[in-house]
Amino acid sequence: MPKRRHEPRRTCVACRQEGSKDELIRLVRSGEAVAVDPTGRAPGRGAYLHRRPECIEEARKKGGLNRALKAQVPDSVWVDLTP
Ligand SMILES: [Zn+2]
Repeated sequence: MPKRRHEPRRTCVACRQEGSKDELIRLVRSGEAVAVDPTGRAPGRGAYLHRRPECIEEARKKGGLNRALKAQVPDSVWVDLTP
């Protein structure tokens, strides 16, 4: 049996690779609103993306984040994500 890890692993919706919380940005949907969750603790359906322009771009173009959250991610969120 593998050792149990204490650090939670999250999967990026763009590249499908796992990363630690430090590497990923959490986005959260509550109701119909989608927002960046800098605390990682906001209630609601969450999805994770690497803090890399490639992953952000990929998620935006292919709609992976929309699918993960089952909501349309507004432009204002993409603006927040773009460094
Ligand atoms: Zn990624």
